[in-house]
Amino acid sequence: MSTASIANSALVLFSGGQDSTTCLAWALSRFQRVETLGFDYGQRHAIELEQRPRLLASMRSMNPEWAARLKEDHQLDLSLLGEISDTALTSDAEITIQKNGLPTTFVPGRNLLFLTVAAALAYRRGLQVLVGGMCETDYSGYPDCRNDTLRALETALQLGMESEIALETPLMWLNKAATWSLAESLGGDALVELIRTDTHTCYLGERGELHDWGRGCGHCPACALRARGYQEYRAGRASTG
Ligand code: ZN
Repeated sequence: MSTASIANSALVLFSGGQDSTTCLAWALSRFQRVETLGFDYGQRHAIELEQRPRLLASMRSMNPEWAARLKEDHQLDLSLLGEISDTALTSDAEITIQKNGLPTTFVPGRNLLFLTVAAALAYRRGLQVLVGGMCETDYSGYPDCRNDTLRALETALQLGMESEIALETPLMWLNKAATWSLAESLGGDALVELIRTDTHTCYLGERGELHDWGRGCGHCPACALRARGYQEYRAGRASTG
């Protein structure tokens, strides 16, 4: 964390969802050089990945400073995750809560693997900070999103790569309403509108109907969380004028 204040370059884990798009705007407002990384790991639906180039183009056209700072996009194949974990995110298994309290969408070790691969890429590209949208507030059931997990991983990466790489998680303590507010503070209504209409969160991969909170089935846990957060955000805006 200490190196982040003087760092000028970052690698953002960018999936094409609401959280990682907000993280990308956060990074573009802080760092001179920003690269992005997406993973193909046999997600049930490739819609997130299809949205990525569209979102990157829109971010560039939205703000000339962001356009100057936003550099290479990388996409890496981590399909081995699908081979070793039969979960509801990588197969057609039903989304339920397991006996250990974790949802069947939990892919064990996913964020540890993502961040380790990202750190290796950042090392090779000379990027100083990793930015990820992990959040303890809404996804407390995901142990690899916990701040303690990520601080421990940051230490392991620094030691294991003899590097001062920092790991930043700007959404860690925000709920979904606060994440919408952060997007507004970074990119105004234009960014909120881009996230609402073009980012993908739905576990079932539905993009047909545009609800007030975005596109999705409206029933899966990801849609429910996103819808509730957006409604809280709008209610907060209305009450403060
Ligand atoms: Zn959904």
